[in-house]
Formats: sequence, C-alpha cells, structure tokens
Amino acid sequence: MNEAADQFMVKFWGTRGSMPTPGHETLRYGGNTSCVEVRCNSEIIIFDAGTGIAKLGQKLQKEEPIQASLFFSHVHWDHIQGMPFFLPAYHPGNKLKLYGNKNWSTKLEYALRWQMQSPTFPVTFDEMNKTGAKMEYIDIQRGEVFRIGADKSIIVRSGELNHPDKAFGFRVEYNGKTLVYATDVENLPHVKKDFLELAAGADFLIHDAQYTHIEYFGLNGSSPRRNWGHSTPEAAAEAAKLAGVKNLILFHHEPTHNDDKIDEMLKTAMEIFPDTVAAYEGMEINL
Ligand SMILES: [Zn+2]
Ligand SMILES: [Zn+2]
Repeated sequence: MNEAADQFMVKFWGTRGSMPTPGHETLRYGGNTSCVEVRCNSEIIIFDAGTGIAKLGQKLQKEEPIQASLFFSHVHWDHIQGMPFFLPAYHPGNKLKLYGNKNWSTKLEYALRWQMQSPTFPVTFDEMNKTGAKMEYIDIQRGEVFRIGADKSIIVRSGELNHPDKAFGFRVEYNGKTLVYATDVENLPHVKKDFLELAAGADFLIHDAQYTHIEYFGLNGSSPRRNWGHSTPEAAAEAAKLAGVKNLILFHHEPTHNDDKIDEMLKTAMEIFPDTVAAYEGMEINL
C-alpha cells in the first residue's frame, strides 16, 4: 500500500477531544483521542499520540523496521496519552523523530517521560528507550519549515494556534497538494492571522469543532466555553471559508456528544461550508 506512486494519504485513528469515549453512542465517529496518520509515499508522518496511536502502532508493527516523524500539536493529555502503548517505540531498529514546540513550558521529552513515571505506569520512559526505538527530539519554532523524506520533497510548516499552552498546527505540502492539521484551536470571536497563513488555500483542513454554538456561549445555562481553546462547527466553517480551503474536516469531537449530535453539527457546518465532513475513526482520504 505504501509503494503507490505519489501517494498522499491521511487516515484518522483518533478523532475525539479531551478524553477517550468508548461505548455504543460513539461507534460511528469513534472514541479514541487525537491521532492522524499521513503517508507521503513511504514516508510516515503522525500527528499527535492520543489513544488512537495504539491501534496505529499495531498496524505499523507489520512494517517494521519503520521510520516515522511524529508532530505533536501540544502536550495536553489527550494528545500524548497513547504514547506508552505505541508498540513501535519499544522495538529496536525503528527510528522516531518527535517534533515539539521549543517554547512550551515543559519540553516534549519531559512531558512524555512524566506520564510514564512510577507509580502511574509500570514501564519507565528510560526502560522503553534503552531497548526500544531510536528517538530523536526536534524543537520547533512558530512558523518553522521542515523538508522531510528521503528526497526532502515533503514540506511541513508549523503555525501557532489560539489554544492554551501554545498549541501548534501543521501544514503539509506534497506533490502539489496541501493538508492542514489544526486541532485544538479557538477561531472565535475571529480567526487569527497565524491560522490564516497556515491554512491558506489548503486542499483539506482538519479543524477543531468541539462545542455547539449553544455550549460555547453558555446559552443552555451551563458555563460558557469561551477561552477554553476550541471552536464550534460555525467557526470552523467560517475559518475554512476565510482561508480559502477546498475541503473541511471537523475534528476533536466533544466527549459528551454522541454520533447523532455530531451529525447535527456536521449539518450546521455544511450550511456555511458545504464541502465538509466530520472525521471518524478509520476514515481515509487520498489527496
Ligand atoms: Zn485536545
Ligand atoms: Zn488542548
């Protein structure tokens, strides 16, 4: 599958925000937290290590030894909690490059290390590292551009998003197509310049759409979700329009929302931006 010429594929392994949400009410969109796999021919790029990465790891095992670039949007728990269950990290011969924001108050390596400390996890990070994959940490700055892949033909650019603790979004350009991963972003009350630069003209934009308009503004009597760092479907659709993207993918679904609720939110977004889908676990798109 990874040998197809000029393949640029994205697959969703975790689409949920905040916490894993298993159960019969979330079967269609899935309950695992954020993890997205991107393939540019044989190059493996992974966005975030939420619980979805566990299943991705099981698949990647069959291709070992592997080399993969893991870009972390930020280190909130829902974006790192699958890492201790990512089997390729335990296997020698694999090479993992882990990219994290240089200006986080805690560096990526320490955040990953902390969540595997005794007594909260039985294998320490050092034990995993001693016998496992070779891991290289790369500090990235806002707006930094990387050329990756054997022939450096994949361009990845970071951009800062409006979210607590300095979350990054990423833009991947390959073979004339562009994919933007912008989870955990509050594009309200307006869209920030950094976001527009990152997402401009993308073929596919993956965008946070966690709360309904009613939840965001607290119109149901519960506390408003302003400044919590997440968007509504309306905000995602307006951001897609403003950035001039071709397709929008709603992502980072709220854990209290069942499948029917996400269907409704998708409809709301489509009224503003018709070329919208809602990400579900297992969804695969070829650019
Ligand atoms: Zn999140
Ligand atoms: Zn977050």
